[in-house]
Amino acid sequence: MSRVKQFIKTFILWELLVGLKLTGRHLFANKVTVQYPDERIPMSPRFRGLHALRRYPNGEERCIACKLCEAVCPALAITIDAGPREADGSRRTKSYEIDLFKCIFCGFCEESCPVDSIVETRVHEYHFENRGENIMTKQKLLAIGDWQESQIAADRASDRAYR
Ligand code: SF4
Ligand code: SF4
Repeated sequence: MSRVKQFIKTFILWELLVGLKLTGRHLFANKVTVQYPDERIPMSPRFRGLHALRRYPNGEERCIACKLCEAVCPALAITIDAGPREADGSRRTKSYEIDLFKCIFCGFCEESCPVDSIVETRVHEYHFENRGENIMTKQKLLAIGDWQESQIAADRASDRAYR
């Protein structure tokens, strides 16, 4: 009997009909595909994108060159050279570099920073065209911080973890 049933199922292309039924069900269901980049889904305030170094409102760099971020980085992606600043002798970074080819975007650097200096922004659309562009220098990181400061501040204000 089961062989007869199997023969009939094969004859009427039963498996195909089952598949088409599933296709038909999704044909008229609500569409979930987003037409990126014209459409975008909401992004978490904790999104871990491109890094930035922040400044205080008076323009002073937040970073005090404590090197906690360098020590905590599991990928050894951060390299800091620190020393006294000529103007006032305060400890500052002479150079601060992040190798984005090594970075795994874990966010440990951000969490370890006592002065909220190194952060990860929402910026995730970037590319490199030349050798060496994967190294984010202090100047590049400060520039991203200046560019993204209002979004960074808004994300921190909206995220309970930072209150
Ligand atoms: S996000 Fe993680 S891997 Fe990347 S620089 Fe920070 S600590 Fe290192
Ligand atoms: S970014 Fe923060 S954790 Fe890293 S050296 Fe500067 S102050 Fe220290």
